[in-house]
Amino acid sequence: MYKSSPLIISVAIVLVSVSCKSGPEPGTAEHINAVTLQVNDARLLTSDEKPGDWISYGRNYQEDRFSPLSQITKSNIEKLGLVWSINLGTTRGIEATPLVVDGIMYITGPWSIVYAIDARKGEIIWIYDPQVPREYGERACCDVVNRGVALYKGLIYVGSLDGRLIAIDASSGTKKWEVVTVDQNKGYTITGAPRIVDGKIIIGNGGAEYGVRGYVTAYDALTGKKIWRFFTVPGNPSHGFESKAMEEAAKTWTGEWWKFGGGGTAWDAMAYDPELKLLYIGTGNGSPWNREIRSPGGGDNLYLSSIVALNPDDGELVWYYQTTPGDSWDYTATQHIILADLEIKGKIRKVLMQAPKNGFFYVIDRTNGDFISAMPFVYTNWAKEIDQTTGIPIETQFSRYKDINSIIAPHPIGGHNWHPMAYNKSTGLVYIPAQESSNMYGQPQDWEYVDDARTWNTGTRYNPDNPDQHDSLATQWNGKLIAWNPVTQKEVWSVNQKSFWNAGILSTEELVFQGAGEGDFVVYDARNGEKLWEFPLQTGIVAPPITYLIDGIQYVTLVAGWGGGMATWVKYTDQINPGGVYTFAIGGEKDAPQFPHQILPKLVNLKFSATNEQLDHGSRLLERYCSKCHSSGPGGAIPGLIYSKPETFEIFNQIVGEGAFLGKGMPKFNDRLSEQDIQDIKFYLLSSAQNEKNKK
Ligand code: CA
Repeated sequence: MYKSSPLIISVAIVLVSVSCKSGPEPGTAEHINAVTLQVNDARLLTSDEKPGDWISYGRNYQEDRFSPLSQITKSNIEKLGLVWSINLGTTRGIEATPLVVDGIMYITGPWSIVYAIDARKGEIIWIYDPQVPREYGERACCDVVNRGVALYKGLIYVGSLDGRLIAIDASSGTKKWEVVTVDQNKGYTITGAPRIVDGKIIIGNGGAEYGVRGYVTAYDALTGKKIWRFFTVPGNPSHGFESKAMEEAAKTWTGEWWKFGGGGTAWDAMAYDPELKLLYIGTGNGSPWNREIRSPGGGDNLYLSSIVALNPDDGELVWYYQTTPGDSWDYTATQHIILADLEIKGKIRKVLMQAPKNGFFYVIDRTNGDFISAMPFVYTNWAKEIDQTTGIPIETQFSRYKDINSIIAPHPIGGHNWHPMAYNKSTGLVYIPAQESSNMYGQPQDWEYVDDARTWNTGTRYNPDNPDQHDSLATQWNGKLIAWNPVTQKEVWSVNQKSFWNAGILSTEELVFQGAGEGDFVVYDARNGEKLWEFPLQTGIVAPPITYLIDGIQYVTLVAGWGGGMATWVKYTDQINPGGVYTFAIGGEKDAPQFPHQILPKLVNLKFSATNEQLDHGSRLLERYCSKCHSSGPGGAIPGLIYSKPETFEIFNQIVGEGAFLGKGMPKFNDRLSEQDIQDIKFYLLSSAQNEKNKK
């Protein structure tokens, strides 16, 4: 272990702080006020000039997550070590990108809770809990997560799970204002980070599986006054259209889509080009997924699964590019958008890059939305290719599953999901946290739309009357870190990962930082993917790391913990850490923290007797009501139900029907499920546990 460096670091900190800093004591309210008030439009526009801070979600408006800081390199990476860690004491999802200004850090945890941290000391300064009502947990498709805050002129902004946008005083943690951005009777949630553009705060929402209509809204950042709203899909035409864009979009829909909300929720990606004055937003899937139900006469269904470029002054549509016309597979284009200037065929092009769920990597001209190129970065069989002239996908004959049960790749989880990529200006590569996957889609025999903010409506299910399509290549499930050349549209290197679901990326000139779902924080060589360093955190990792300077020294921080309701595979099978914040520097010598561990549960083994009909009924109910939150494995934010304790099954009806675990976010279902229904779910779980045991 390297011993002398921490001393050097502390001496250096003392020297720097004594000799250079005449301002207020770091970490005091006066200091926080001073440094957070400096984050204004000019600072946001020039964030690359002060890479020692990380003041917006993607580090800069291009959202490239590439830091020019160069103290941590290939040659000293073996001396990278843990400096401090904070136990957040939660096993619910952690997905936040921290923001840092002069060593003052802001992160979010589950239930949209905001933490201010003194990164010099590794201590919490304040906690702001927006008190999200726990029944909202049921409306979150993918756990009660939050991906981070925005920072502007002394205020911290969080979008809360229940649809509020809240401005908090950066130094005291007290609320300044809040606005409700959604109809809280509907299935909207906010999990994404807000962005600041030209004095406005922009926020989207999620909920396309719960029958909502997507939109983004801009508010005055200082007062919370609403400035504009851009809907991503048209509403009922008989009510009139909000804009020309909606009138045009409605021509691409058929049937009575507005009864299902339509979807198109913009729940994550945004980027901004200040020279072009264009705000780029990624939009989500259709509601329900199956176009045959949503828009039975076909149609592209604009602006689902699209990148829309808006004028940030008034929210008017300037151009759009639709990655998945007539989406029927949950192929959102809400995935990370990165802006870069690339030399393509001898010309510098201002491009926008995205690896949406549909498995193709897109390079688009960001000045006008012109298609440049798209190639598959994982195995895809919904489309053979994207026509390289028109930018329109050429679908396979089994991609639409009206008369056939189709195994389609990628799975709704996507070839790439929310986990941020990074674009390294030095290697010219984009690092994609990807996964190979597939899913069975079918036209359901007896599907019925349930108009309820809590009900998962996808409209696809295996149909036993229809023939099956078999694709042996689509059955591989594999997590993969891919280094992609966006100019040649080719993979340069890749690393196969044990865990299917891995973390977001940070890149510096020589290095790629990524948490592996199996519980290790890993650093790779940016040029060839060689693993250079790893550190066991003993918890699932999905959030992207960041890097910054404090008093001239480079640090890396990662917020780690289960995320997104996904069953992440941790190699420490009997003990895992709860969520935490971890900060590293050269010479750090702390061991992996041993927070009080969560013991992973075992398969239940109880006697029961049930008919095949009861088991089938239980299986359908489990799929509809339980599986969107509970993973299938023993780990994850919410473990698989077959791993529940025998005592849990004894009071199963009290928990599921009457809400005994309401305080933990487990809803009560007695308004929707009878005691008989609940018993059939229980029988199905006990039978599944036995089957799982027999496999082992
Ligand atoms: Ca979705």
